[in-house]
Amino acid sequence: MAEKVFKRTLVTSALPYANGDIHLGHLAGAYLPADMYVRYLRLRGEDVLYICGSDEYGVPITLTAEKLGITPKELVDRNHAAIRDSFAGFGMSFDNFSQTSRAIHTETSQEFFRDMHTQGLFVQKSTEQFYSPSLGRFLSDRYIEGTCPVCGHEGARGDECEQCTSTFNPTDLKDPRSVLDNKPLELRPTTHWFLPMGDWQPKLEKFIASHPEWKDNVRQYCRGYFEAGLKDRAITRDLDWGVPVPLPDHEGKVFYVWFDAPIGYISSTREWAQAQGDPEAWKTWWQSDDTRLIHFIGKDNIFFHAMMFPAVLMAHSGDWVLPENVPANEFLNLEGQKLSTSKGFAVWLPEYLAKFAADPLRYTLARNLPETRDMNFTWEGFQARNNSELGNNFGNLINRVFKFTGKYFDGVVPEWSDAMMTDLDRKALADVEALLEQWAGHMERFEFKAAVDVAFQAGKVGNGYFDEAAPFTTRKSDMARCGHSLGVSVQILRVLCLMLAPVTPFAMEKLWAWLGMESDLWRGGWDEGTRSIPGGRRLGESEILFPRLDDEVIQPEIERLQGLLGTDGQA
Ligand SMILES: [Zn+2]
Repeated sequence: MAEKVFKRTLVTSALPYANGDIHLGHLAGAYLPADMYVRYLRLRGEDVLYICGSDEYGVPITLTAEKLGITPKELVDRNHAAIRDSFAGFGMSFDNFSQTSRAIHTETSQEFFRDMHTQGLFVQKSTEQFYSPSLGRFLSDRYIEGTCPVCGHEGARGDECEQCTSTFNPTDLKDPRSVLDNKPLELRPTTHWFLPMGDWQPKLEKFIASHPEWKDNVRQYCRGYFEAGLKDRAITRDLDWGVPVPLPDHEGKVFYVWFDAPIGYISSTREWAQAQGDPEAWKTWWQSDDTRLIHFIGKDNIFFHAMMFPAVLMAHSGDWVLPENVPANEFLNLEGQKLSTSKGFAVWLPEYLAKFAADPLRYTLARNLPETRDMNFTWEGFQARNNSELGNNFGNLINRVFKFTGKYFDGVVPEWSDAMMTDLDRKALADVEALLEQWAGHMERFEFKAAVDVAFQAGKVGNGYFDEAAPFTTRKSDMARCGHSLGVSVQILRVLCLMLAPVTPFAMEKLWAWLGMESDLWRGGWDEGTRSIPGGRRLGESEILFPRLDDEVIQPEIERLQGLLGTDGQA
């Protein structure tokens, strides 16, 4: 089969749930890798659109809102704005960041439901569910409390007991009560719509078999589901906070979030198109055969992105693109422990950004991406990456080249030429060029950790070259040689700037400007970045790009997390 030629790439990151802040685990999963990929494609001058938004429906949102005494809409608007702002501070470069509680999403997801319902693709089933006579509504698991059927603990949640860690059906609870008013509940029949996933299994198996290049964790996960046989999945719930089911006599029924949330990618793209003044432009991204769709997610979302959403796209009568890849990451641990948001054992992005710059975190996370297995973030590791890698490896080289050129060549790139090339010069340039090529290969294959490692190697090549060419010595004996070595060093910085741009964009945008580059880094900067910088060009004033982080600022962060650990050392 001939390789498919794509004209554009549509990238999505899993919609963050608008029930709280973003933490490091989220960033390492679905966000930083996607942003690096998108920035890489923009650097190459590719046509790329990066779509996201917040996922705003479901029971946890209504529970939080009720606790705070505000409406769910007030809660999600507040959280949406906070998430949007901290993502911006971290350098996430979405083209559009929408909300699933907006009208355009109601319209889009209801259209999907109507289309599939008209084709008779859903089944309706009756089940028994807890109903609160005092509140006049059905309650789902998280609203239900009772006595644990296993250990007798009185505050067991709807589906699990924190005391003895048993899990069960809410109907097994003794004395079921509502967490909202502590009044008793009764079982009543209710009907729901289901998507019979089994009907789509043959097509889905074929679809996933056609992508042997997908990551092993994703393919294995899907295989496990196929072996067990895909089951009917509920797509509606009894709740008043959600997209209403667009059928008569369905009051109080909304879409289950996992039916509507992935459709949010489409709604967000429609919103983007409207903002461009070209409301139909979204179709080019979602309904053209030559669009490459890539979903970046954490491993907990594989089912919905590799199976359920593709089934919905196949089922709808329109002609939709299916994901070309679903690069799912494993989890990030913190100081050797599993993150626990309920215990506050996490590093929250807004708190991080109040104290530190985005680039060192992006770099450290990129060095530790849980691409094939769970990884660990430690503050000590963060400090070491910042000081010894960003500071000593990259920052120091950049600083030395600019300072020297400023001091001895008036800030102008010295004349350097083929005629003056030594083996040392040629080898250094050839090495970084070869590393740049390797780097691009890793970026294309979603191997971001390996890509950053290659950039690090290139930094070492640059430092090794500078030390050996020793312009600090030759300036006393041979000014032309000194200038030539600096000219060669400037070329190395130019290549480093390309390799670091997706991971430390804030610093590299500065370096790009200091190097006197004319093109927009994010609109095909690659072209200019792979051409030599001639002697005679005036460079900008440099500054320290990656300041050192001392123990005084790192230690309190370590202590805060240690304070959250129990006497058994567990979070
Ligand atoms: Zn129990």
